[in-house]
Amino acid sequence: MELNSQFTKTFSLEKEFGIKNAKMHYQLSPEELHEISINKGQGVEANSGALAINTGKFTGRAPKDRFIVKDEITKDDVWWGKVNMPFDPDKFDNLYNKVIDYLSGKELFVRDSYVCADKNYRTNIRVVNEHPWSNLFCYNMFLRPDNSELANFTPDWKIVNAPDFQADPEIDGTRSKNFAILNFTKKIALIGGTGYTGEMKKGIFSALNFILPTQKNTLPMHCSANVGEDGDTAIFFGLSGTGKTTLSADPSRKLIGDDEHGWTKENTVFNFEGGCYAKVIDLTEEKEPDIYRAIKKGAILENVIIDDKGNVDFEDDSITQNTRVSYPIHHIDNVQPNLVGENPKNIFFLTADAFGVLPPISKLTPGQAAYHFISGYTAKVAGTEAGINEPVPSFSACFGAPFMPLHPTRYAEMLSDKMREAGVNVWLINTGWTGGPYGTGNRMKLKYTRAMINEALLGNLKNVDFEQHEIFGLHMPKECPNVPLEVLNPKKTWKDKDAYDAKAKHLAKSFKDNFEKFEAYANDEIMAGAPKFE
Ligand code: ATP
Ligand code: MN
Repeated sequence: MELNSQFTKTFSLEKEFGIKNAKMHYQLSPEELHEISINKGQGVEANSGALAINTGKFTGRAPKDRFIVKDEITKDDVWWGKVNMPFDPDKFDNLYNKVIDYLSGKELFVRDSYVCADKNYRTNIRVVNEHPWSNLFCYNMFLRPDNSELANFTPDWKIVNAPDFQADPEIDGTRSKNFAILNFTKKIALIGGTGYTGEMKKGIFSALNFILPTQKNTLPMHCSANVGEDGDTAIFFGLSGTGKTTLSADPSRKLIGDDEHGWTKENTVFNFEGGCYAKVIDLTEEKEPDIYRAIKKGAILENVIIDDKGNVDFEDDSITQNTRVSYPIHHIDNVQPNLVGENPKNIFFLTADAFGVLPPISKLTPGQAAYHFISGYTAKVAGTEAGINEPVPSFSACFGAPFMPLHPTRYAEMLSDKMREAGVNVWLINTGWTGGPYGTGNRMKLKYTRAMINEALLGNLKNVDFEQHEIFGLHMPKECPNVPLEVLNPKKTWKDKDAYDAKAKHLAKSFKDNFEKFEAYANDEIMAGAPKFE
């Protein structure tokens, strides 16, 4: 196959990155990257046409190895701590030079792309990848400039991605051999020692989460978004596994994006990205038709089990529970063409409460909305080993603490202001357990969650009666079209009502303990949104 036929590069890897004598493949097509990955023995073709690869030792992000260079730009604004760990600028330069030496002389895959679909916020990205499939991931996930835009493309940010490079923690100042480091002065995301592709997208997300609020008066959000026939935008916040990607893919609404968005001062909501990155564990065509059908030529399946006939076993989690597929957004049928919507009319906070305590749908007051946004609750289901059935509460401020360099209250204040101005409805959706905690109850049926969201969007919950949760104070609809009445009040789904009350108190206590560090920043309205218990 003849490569590089279409584009001539207008820059030098040596001048721009310091990389010497590399064989650069610039802006290869997805077909070329697919084929090269297979020819190199780094992937196989599934019978859906998708490329199936393994990301190596890392099948998920490594948050403990994520650093931010502490410099003039970041030192006063970043909320330093366990999430945002500082990295010394000189150490960065040393490590960068080592990675560059490592990449020199190699065959490299380079791509120009951009993020932020709203043209006023467009940020150009130039990425250098050691592996062809990592470069295909960037084609899928970032926005794709057209040919005319490539002629005079200047990168705003760069990603240098060397999965097979290994750091030496003693010398390099990292915690391990792998690292993901953001440098705001040099505008570089330096990623090494891990092939997990999500590090690149979440690296750029984290950079935007600093830049947009501090420099462009725009709120970055870890949420999905779609828009209805009347142009009404809905956004869905939630931590990993709570349903952002699943629930935003809705045939009756146009998808804006599945993971990262900005809400601007011009009252638009725009996607940062140009693709989706969906979990595929237990995926079926029946339950998630849009995602299932997006898995075709061009898509990359990660860490799935595939037989020699190309059949994927989506139930097999022997490599990881976090099996994924990335695909460009046009693999979904119903997409908002410019990936920009207007002010949202409805905001959903998704949580997968494995304690089975929170109602499947409830309406939040502005105070509750702020309280739950700052709390960022979901539950993690403990290991799948026999006998371990206790879920663990997990709080991640703004439903995305690992990606938020600023203090959570800075995002929360922006969100509260924007919600007030736009007059949005805010809903809490529990996509987690009902009828008891994990181990006893069951996960809420996807079809019911979809119906609840749909009815809220259609305005069909405006005129129904609500009852208030005794401890959490949430307003739960007493009826909802297309949903069985008995699932709406969580206590009613438990056989043992005392056990429910005890669990609810236990969860409320976790909320309270977690919120202590934010109480000094919260006003009376927000504190009134907290659960109440003796
Ligand atoms: P990430 O931030 O990691 O991309 P996400 O919020 O996009 O996570 P999804 O990829 O949508 O999460 O994962 C939700 C998972 O939970 C899917 O595998 C989906 O099939 C499953 N699921 C089961 N029941 C429900 C439900 N009631 N609502 C939503 N998802 C459900
Ligand atoms: Mn997702």
